[in-house]
Amino acid sequence: MSQPAPLAAAPAFDEAWFAARAQPGVQRLKAYDPGHDLVALRRQYGEAHLVELGSNENPYGPSPAARAAILDSLHALHRYPDPLGGDLKRALARKHGVEVGQILLGNGSHELLMQLGQVFAGPSEEVVFSRYGFAVFALSTQAAGARMRIVEALPREAAMPCGHDLDAIAAAVGADTKLVYVANPNNPTGTWFGRDALVAFLDKIPAHVIVVMDEAYAEMADAPDYASALNVLDRYPNVAVTRTFSKAYGLAGLRVGYLIAQPGLIAVMDRLRESFNVNGPALAACEAALGDEDHLRWACARNAEQRGALAEALARRGLRVFPSQTNFVLVEFGARTPQVEAALVARGVILRPMGGYGLADCIRISVGSADENRRLLAALDEVLA
Ligand SMILES: *Cc1c(COP(=O)(O)O)cnc(C)c1O
Repeated sequence: MSQPAPLAAAPAFDEAWFAARAQPGVQRLKAYDPGHDLVALRRQYGEAHLVELGSNENPYGPSPAARAAILDSLHALHRYPDPLGGDLKRALARKHGVEVGQILLGNGSHELLMQLGQVFAGPSEEVVFSRYGFAVFALSTQAAGARMRIVEALPREAAMPCGHDLDAIAAAVGADTKLVYVANPNNPTGTWFGRDALVAFLDKIPAHVIVVMDEAYAEMADAPDYASALNVLDRYPNVAVTRTFSKAYGLAGLRVGYLIAQPGLIAVMDRLRESFNVNGPALAACEAALGDEDHLRWACARNAEQRGALAEALARRGLRVFPSQTNFVLVEFGARTPQVEAALVARGVILRPMGGYGLADCIRISVGSADENRRLLAALDEVLA
């Protein structure tokens, strides 16, 4: 018996080949940029020698009750989690004074922001958001095949530099607009707006346009005029608010976010939700974390304290620090930005370059613990010397 002739290898089909076959929105899409490859850097430097201030993580970690809840959930790893996430939703409903039917859980709020685009925007329709708005707004719009209407931000010299220009955003809403994304406070600028500005803005948006308020940092905002859109939800049924357990709750590793809106909006979103999108240990941990308000308050107070101290220390070094209500600060380094950033990486200090956002002369620095911030400043002093 003769051996069959070996099959000729197929030609290599590269990314461009497959992209040409993707739906039009995906053809132009650039994948989310998570910053530096931290896994590789940890291997290179050793975790203890790195100062990781690139991803706005909470240096204090979650409530001990969250860790305990995860351990307690491990006996049920062979079971599917509660597909409704009922216990966590009830705890969230109590906390925020809303109905359980007004809440949708997501595998991170990133998933919910993407899904909002998929559900409410489509080809030949428009999604409006600000320049320097959170990167996922553009991803979501393009993935849905919709058009992006990017509104110029406030100027660098404004009191809220590069912040959302709410009047201009409202003015950009047109006949094809289905969705508006607003982040308050915003990432990567750290900027925010107050209650009066929020109400004046929402008054200008036609009721058939859905306004997504991304409030990933709301728990950390302590400016006297800051107000979450959750406070005005009853007055504006077209508003949907996203929150996350990744930042103030210190549970970024679990990937849980939630959406609060009208029950009807939640029901339509639920049609596209993946079954069991939030895993069992995560559901248990988030419910426990919600029950530990002391830990949340403590972590937010430490953050506010360190944010002020870090901003001051950077300003003393002659750097321009943008105002922030978050757990990071955007800092202007000017023309030397790439060199400074690279020199800091070489010293094991990992920050987030901002070229992808069109802010190539700035670096976003997460507010670390007192020790991390001290190590950052020491490295920075070497680099700037
Ligand atoms: C970090 C962040 C999120 C969300 O993160 P998840 O971890 O996906 O919940 C959403 N919006 C903004 C503005 C953020 O900075």
